[in-house]
Amino acid sequence: MSVEVSSHSLFANRLCLDFANLPFASGDRAEGAIFWDEFVDFLAVKRIISPEKTASIRAMAKSDPCAAQNLLDHAERLGHALRLCFRAILRSQDLHREWVEPVNRILRVTEGHDELQWDGTAWRLGFIAREEGLEWLLAAIARSGAELISEGASQNLKQCANPDCQILFYDDSRTHRRRWCSMALCGNRSKVAAFARRNQQGEGEKASAHHA
Ligand SMILES: [Zn+2]
Repeated sequence: MSVEVSSHSLFANRLCLDFANLPFASGDRAEGAIFWDEFVDFLAVKRIISPEKTASIRAMAKSDPCAAQNLLDHAERLGHALRLCFRAILRSQDLHREWVEPVNRILRVTEGHDELQWDGTAWRLGFIAREEGLEWLLAAIARSGAELISEGASQNLKQCANPDCQILFYDDSRTHRRRWCSMALCGNRSKVAAFARRNQQGEGEKASAHHA
């Protein structure tokens, strides 16, 4: 499992948001890395593919590189579209029709049904796709995105308050006051920074008092 998927981006409370937070879905290809492994890790962690299937899908990068690249292109388009939509919702802006098209495209080509699934702690409503083509791997993500988009402007959709982070998450806390993607990652970091600022100010005041 890659570091990105295991520790970076799965705080969002919604499948579509966790997906949109993945570096590869953001179109961040600065390092020229191959994102297939990251994508497959995500599908496995989110139980979209079973452990038995994970190895054969991962091997597609070599066994069927065209199909793998085609799916990755779809995934990137979907991720990009979702991010545009969620950013607009955060800013109470209208969504462009072309932004939702990649979501609709996946919804159109994937048939399936909803099913209640026990995830070890709670019952979740999951989407079971009929396995035709490879786009079914994106069906649950597109469906989750479509649900959030149709929910519209909502105080539950948020962006981490750390300006360097920008992770999107769904605040389903009772008080709706969650500010950070993760307290451990950004919350504590911000507290440390605020403490340092206060301390610096204190030092500054002491210095100027001394000077006077
Ligand atoms: Zn954050």
